[in-house]
Formats: sequence, structure tokens, C-alpha cells
Amino acid sequence: MPELPEVETVLRSLLPKIKGKEINTVRVMHEDVVGWPGSVKEFSRGLFRKKVTGGFRRGKLLVFELNGGKKLIFHLRMTGRLYYRINPAPLEKHSHLVLEFVDGGTLIFEDTRRFGRVYLVAPGEECYAGNLEKLGPEPLGPDFDLEEFVRAFDKKKGRIKALLLNQSFIAGLGNIYVDEILFRSNIHPETPANNLEKHQIESIFLKMKEVLKEAIAGRGTTFRDYRDGEGRSGDFQNLLQVYGREGEKCPRCSDFIERKKVAGRSSFFCPCCQKDGINDPSSTGEC
Ligand SMILES: [Zn+2]
Repeated sequence: MPELPEVETVLRSLLPKIKGKEINTVRVMHEDVVGWPGSVKEFSRGLFRKKVTGGFRRGKLLVFELNGGKKLIFHLRMTGRLYYRINPAPLEKHSHLVLEFVDGGTLIFEDTRRFGRVYLVAPGEECYAGNLEKLGPEPLGPDFDLEEFVRAFDKKKGRIKALLLNQSFIAGLGNIYVDEILFRSNIHPETPANNLEKHQIESIFLKMKEVLKEAIAGRGTTFRDYRDGEGRSGDFQNLLQVYGREGEKCPRCSDFIERKKVAGRSSFFCPCCQKDGINDPSSTGEC
């Protein structure tokens, strides 16, 4: 599932190709893909002859700004892919939406599992664009500071893994990067969030930025579906330290990576470097 680094990579690879281009035709192959407005006709009409003026990422959402003030927002969810082609080509079976620009280029949205959605919202309609308005702070945002993050932990119950996956607590993280962040912070994924010491929260704050920046530099993680806006795979899967590495040797100690279901998700951790915080909240992670 594309997380912050993958969505950021899609944005960076796509925006230079489509910025300034004017949409000519809109083809919606599966109506389910349009999350807003309610009718596909209204969606298509709203995009006709609109120009892409800019774009940004918010959490796992890709936001393209159009002249006239509307925004075209994509949520890739599990298996969504968004990419640009200069020349028309035969469409794949799972292409759900195609935007053709006046100059002949196309933006294609593909999704095998069909959980992905696209929204066209006018100013004031942002609440209809998935979870856009409920998203927590951006981990790489310039305004996001440590004190705010530490304060956000006040009275937070539940496991740290579940909390970091919660998009209204912090935006953009998913299963892969939460496991990598917790490994680098020496924190077991089942540790109750309100048992964490301040220095552990600080560690999460720093490692979160570190992992995400490295993953963006590596152009994201591809296990199977994820591709960037030019159809290329990411490289960061080779640099993951625990995720997907069950039974392999921990990169830091002589123990082996384990997998366990936490917060309903497969979670990878080193049982030695990441002591179970339920029994030992003062664990330093030394083993
Ligand atoms: Zn270890």
C-alpha cells in the first residue's frame, strides 16, 4: 500500500509532466472510482478544459490544483497507480480513469483491487475528499515540532503501532514505515503509547523523519504493485531493516526478526532490540 514516501514520489514524478496542461477528455471506465461529486457526469464536466496549475501531497493523498479553484484528489489506497503517458497506448484491464490532455498526453489511474478513489472538490467541499480534513500533522512539515508531538501522546491509549497508523494522529504512515521507525527507535510495536518515556517519543519523532526522508530518496518501496508516475518501481525495499524480513538476522544484533499481528497488521520486529514494553516499560532496547 502506498504510504507517504510512495505518494510523494508519484507526485514528484508526475507534477512536472502535467503542470500547465489542459484537460480535454475524461473517460471513467468504472463509476465506483469517483468518490465526489456524486455523478460521473458532474465529475467529467467539472474537469473539462481545466488546467493543472500545481499540486502537493497531504498524508497519502495526491492533490492537484486546477484553474478555477477546484482540486483533483487521488487516494491510491491498496493498489492504485497513477502515471503519465506521452502517447496514447492500449489501456490495461484495470484502468478506471483516463484524462486526456489537449496536447495528447494522458494521465491514467489503474487499480486492481479497486479501493482507490478520485475526488473533484470545489473550495469548501474538502470534507468530501476521503479523510483529507481529518488528517493529523505532516511528519515532514515545517511546522511540525517535537513539543507538539510529545503533547499529542497525552492520555493516548492503545498500542504505539496502532497510534502511528492512525491518520488523524499523524498523516502518511502505514505498516511498512511504522515497523521501520519502531525498529530504529528500539520500541516494541505492542508498547502501550502512554507507557512511553519522553526520550522514546523523541526517538520516534527523529527516526520518523529520518526513515521517511531516506525512503523518498529511494523513491519508495515496491513489493508488488507500487510504481511511480512514470511506471518505475521504487528502490527502498532493499534498504528495509525489518519489514518483510521474518526469520532473517537482525541488522543490529544476533537475534532473528519476528512477525506478529499487531493492530490487525503483520508487524515485523527484533525481539531483542525491541523489548516488549508491556512488561518492561523502562526497556532501553539494549540486548
Ligand atoms: Zn536486534
